[in-house]
Amino acid sequence: MTQSHVKLLVILFWCAAIAWWVVARPGPLQTEPLAAGTLPDGTATFWFKGNTHAHAKIEINGWSHGNAAPAEVVQWYHDHGYHFAAITDHNRWHGGGVEDVAGDDFLMLSGMEITSDHRYPGVTQDGQRRIHSTALGTKQPLNWTFEDPSVPYIIRQHVTDAENAGGLAVLNHPNYAFQVQFQNIIDAPELGLLEIVNAHPRANQEGHAGFRPSVETLWDELLSSGRQVWGVAADDAHDFGWSGRLMRRFGAAPPGGAWIMVRAPKLQREDILDALESGDFYASTGVILGDVDWRENELRVAVNPALTEAETSLYWVEAAATEVPSDDSHVVIEFIGVHGKRLHWTHDQYQASYSLPADQPYMRARVTYLKKKFSFFGADRARAFYAWTQPVFAVNESTQ
Ligand SMILES: [Zn+2]
Ligand SMILES: [Zn+2]
Repeated sequence: MTQSHVKLLVILFWCAAIAWWVVARPGPLQTEPLAAGTLPDGTATFWFKGNTHAHAKIEINGWSHGNAAPAEVVQWYHDHGYHFAAITDHNRWHGGGVEDVAGDDFLMLSGMEITSDHRYPGVTQDGQRRIHSTALGTKQPLNWTFEDPSVPYIIRQHVTDAENAGGLAVLNHPNYAFQVQFQNIIDAPELGLLEIVNAHPRANQEGHAGFRPSVETLWDELLSSGRQVWGVAADDAHDFGWSGRLMRRFGAAPPGGAWIMVRAPKLQREDILDALESGDFYASTGVILGDVDWRENELRVAVNPALTEAETSLYWVEAAATEVPSDDSHVVIEFIGVHGKRLHWTHDQYQASYSLPADQPYMRARVTYLKKKFSFFGADRARAFYAWTQPVFAVNESTQ
């Protein structure tokens, strides 16, 4: 090889490296909350992006969980386009507050993950119950030992304790170790919020074919039984270092893969909690909605294509997506009714609407964005990104 060949190879290497950097670097971050419309009294509302479930390194008795200090966790969410977050470590309360991160106000809701496993320090009840729930926005830490080891008792106690302390409870990852069954939630009528997406690799989101339902199916069955349960998507992040994304398949849980978009007038604790309680939010793993509107028994959903494209190009969002076979990129909007029945769907349209049929007590919408992956070898694969609206329930004509 002559010297000029070596030079050419060096130049080609740097051209390829620069081209890769241009293609692979994250797109512009959406940091300003998107306008969401106005309330009947004229007050403007916005979509605030938030994560309700993340761990931090809070050492107690030589024992800790997440791998980043609380301040680093706050900084990560702030720097990656979120407006609010919570640190929800196992049985350790983080008081939250408005944090001044790099000159911006960023809302930290108080949080803890109430954890009833007796493998955790300080948990004394009998049994192998692994029931976890996020206590969000409470004014003080909550108890995590229970007199009765039955699953519904523990869930009910989580919810009641969180509400008595001025906050809300979200039942986390029901398929983790397959600890929570449909009947357990039926027997805990107080529960109003459920993690339908938990980005931790051990959350068993898809269930086991044939004998364990997916979490989305569990949600459909709860709604079909007449329960009003809102669906939350959250990170359950533990690993904030650079290697976390690479190690996902080996059990690491990096941040940025699943979140909620909350519609509220102001970025303040009361507004966010009110919207969560009334179901005015949607869950996402990449799809950004322009609008969700429920009026006169018609549900209208609009996708924001530019922001969805930008969001799904962020490497921390991309890294969490599952891959599916697909010939091309596609957008599908589905309207889903009782027992998960698909009532109506559109293909490659950015908005759709559907009127609730008379035989359906409720419906919900799900948007799927299959984004074709570049492949040197022509394999047809796409990353799958989603948004899930909350269910909407039939409104009696006479009360409209
Ligand atoms: Zn957990
Ligand atoms: Zn957790």
